[in-house]
Amino acid sequence: MKKILLLTLILATAALKSQEKVTLDYYLPANITYNENVPTPQSIIGHEVGEWHITHDKLVYYMQALAASSDRVNIENRGETFEGRPLLLLTITSPDNHKKIDQIQKEHLEISTQDGSAKSTNDLPVVVYQGFSIHGNEPSGSNAALVYAYYLAAAEGEEIEQLLKHTVILLDPSFNPDGLQRFAYWANTNKNANLNPDGNDREYHEVWPGGRTNHYWFDMNRDWLPVQLPESRARIASFHKWMPNILTDHHEMGTNSTFFFQPGEPNRVHPLTPKINQELTAEIGTFHAKALDNIGSLYYSEEDYDDYYYGKGSTFPDVNGGIGILFEQASSRGHIQESVNGILTFPFTIRNQFATALSTIEAAQHMRIKLLQYQQQFFKDALIESSKNKTKTIIFGDSKDAAKSWHLAEILQRQKIKFHQLNTDAVIDGKTFKKENSYVVPMNQRNSRLIKAMFEKRTTFTDSIFYDISAWTFPLAFNLDYTEVNSSTYLGEEITTLKNLTGTIGNLSNYAYAFEWNEYYTPKALNKILNKGIRAKVGKTPFSVEGKKYDYGAILIPVQNQELDPKELHAFLTEVAQESFINIASIGTGHTVGIDLGSSRFESLKKQEIAIIVGNGITSYDAGEIWHLFDQRYDIKLTKLDTDYFSRINLSRYTAIIIPNSYKGLDKNSTEKLKTWVKNGGTVIGYRGTTEWLAKNEFIDLKFIKDTLVAKDISYEQKKKFSGAQVTGGAIFETKLDRSHPINFGYKNNKLPIFRNTNSYIEPNKSSYNNPIQYTNSPLLSGYVSEEKLELLKNSVPFQAQRLGRGKVIVFTDNTNFRAFWYGTNKLLINAIFFSEIL
Ligand SMILES: [Zn+2]
Repeated sequence: MKKILLLTLILATAALKSQEKVTLDYYLPANITYNENVPTPQSIIGHEVGEWHITHDKLVYYMQALAASSDRVNIENRGETFEGRPLLLLTITSPDNHKKIDQIQKEHLEISTQDGSAKSTNDLPVVVYQGFSIHGNEPSGSNAALVYAYYLAAAEGEEIEQLLKHTVILLDPSFNPDGLQRFAYWANTNKNANLNPDGNDREYHEVWPGGRTNHYWFDMNRDWLPVQLPESRARIASFHKWMPNILTDHHEMGTNSTFFFQPGEPNRVHPLTPKINQELTAEIGTFHAKALDNIGSLYYSEEDYDDYYYGKGSTFPDVNGGIGILFEQASSRGHIQESVNGILTFPFTIRNQFATALSTIEAAQHMRIKLLQYQQQFFKDALIESSKNKTKTIIFGDSKDAAKSWHLAEILQRQKIKFHQLNTDAVIDGKTFKKENSYVVPMNQRNSRLIKAMFEKRTTFTDSIFYDISAWTFPLAFNLDYTEVNSSTYLGEEITTLKNLTGTIGNLSNYAYAFEWNEYYTPKALNKILNKGIRAKVGKTPFSVEGKKYDYGAILIPVQNQELDPKELHAFLTEVAQESFINIASIGTGHTVGIDLGSSRFESLKKQEIAIIVGNGITSYDAGEIWHLFDQRYDIKLTKLDTDYFSRINLSRYTAIIIPNSYKGLDKNSTEKLKTWVKNGGTVIGYRGTTEWLAKNEFIDLKFIKDTLVAKDISYEQKKKFSGAQVTGGAIFETKLDRSHPINFGYKNNKLPIFRNTNSYIEPNKSSYNNPIQYTNSPLLSGYVSEEKLELLKNSVPFQAQRLGRGKVIVFTDNTNFRAFWYGTNKLLINAIFFSEIL
């Protein structure tokens, strides 16, 4: 056996005095020489690492310069953020490995397949994906990436050469470029020449929404499984290209803490993660412990953080044959801050991240064969598991909504899950599946565990506390019909590349056009039609014409008396159909079965001017989800009104104002202003906490079900566990719908799964027709909820709408726009806006 040379970590241990100028030596291992042809960070970015917060553009310059100077480093741009910043990846390994990198990549991938299940792993390099600062205001990671990349490119000697011979490092220096830039701007513009550690200084108090999130205020460390954001899409593509053995995710936490590395809470590991995964995580942890001991830094593990939700960067690898590792460093948040552990300097935080980045690859090299064999065994076991049920398939689709099904198929494609066409139209378990918008997923494939993680419903748990959501069952989030069958009867051809969505329109009509409201992108179509000044109506009753049935909520566009002549109208609607992927029918007669097209059961629709309240007091995640939905999916203009100046603006141009989750609501002047605007005909839509605020301020008359739970026989020590168990952190519940109510137009089933992460319960209105959405008597579909809270939820209502003066007040206790992947409930908000007059 070849002798593995261990990388010895001897870091300069001298403490950095708070006002002392930092030098590169502070970070780097001592007694190592560095290649002078490789530029230091300072020579490119103009300051020492840790002196200022790195902006993303400077980080890009440095990484490019580094790659240009070193034959160990290859750089690629994998796409762009919403703000147009490059998504860089550095591949770092020995120059010899670089010459045959495609071959190495191919051989590495093979060990996770049937073909490579018996292959020797002895000579294969280990693959380590190291990513930094997915939360932009946790910047020590990305700043450490500068030193780390320099070290890997410039360090000389036998140890580093041996390491690079046996390791392929995928270095992702900034997981969240837009957030990093936003935070660097804040910390740098508020920096004092005489560094000021007083935590009250403005430097340590970012303005709303802060730099944690991306452009649309998403927490990207929740998107590894749903892959809805461009940053995640790039990194998931790299992940599946390489199937890393270790993936690290460098974060920051509260200023008064120390340093955390995984494993986390032993009781809170997802049951699909093999036990040995946590053992290997712990073994890797011994390397971090040693590295931090060497520089005298405090640390801990096996507490606080968990490995449950697979949408997090440190948990996602665990269901993909790798080991995910979370690091959390106490944050200086700016350049220097007082803490219970003394003065915390920014360079100190960078040095801990650097040290553990290095101990990660030291562990990887030391455990190389073990990690590769673990990965091989993981997929071997998964294949054995899934071949026990060789013919088991999952079928999903929506006979009236191709786009929604397509978007779930798109996730499968990004996650390298194999799926097929449905070979025939079929009714299975009473559900109708159509060939053109259904998909079939065979369970007998290498990613069977990942499929389980996405599709399973789970309602029993070993613990009652969750760091994040406890359920994410994808077909429920998409509100799709789905079923499992033990037969390959329905298996059509495999889909290797999803075809683009399309839209169609009938021939030119001189009478009318119509489309059903079910398709996912119909709001985009309707908005474009109304903005063009075209008159459109919504059908409040089902009808059929010329042999085609139209359900509740169909949109009708008469041809006569429009701004456009019949030819122009047809051309315009053709464009609408193609852009929104919908099918528009042309109709030659007004005589129908059911309501005639001239009936008053067709209600005229109005062009909307929509605003959303953002800023202090509003939950930025919830606000960002809505902004993203309108801006990216529906192409609907949404004006962001900040709570700061809300009381000073004229609201008369807006038809609808959305208030995302808020616990304190608006100030007194703003509240009065909003109320007057509603009374004059506006529609206000409040979410989650805002529901209670609207009720308290007499916008709407609601009765809330009181939670009377008290702690009995609970000791002080059990307090945290007791209250933690009552949190509804994110689970999925069943509601029943009154489909004739306009809030439910576009929903073809009588049941709708809803995501809930609140503990707010509204009593049903005494008139049943005012309760169009109601939790069922046995509502838990997937996820954790305490028995007490489940009891309160039964038969309560998540939605109410009431008149106030000439306007409307509409409330949702639950988030219908969760994290961009809850496609199933997106339409409720749109219905509340476009159909508000008939609600
Ligand atoms: Zn974080």
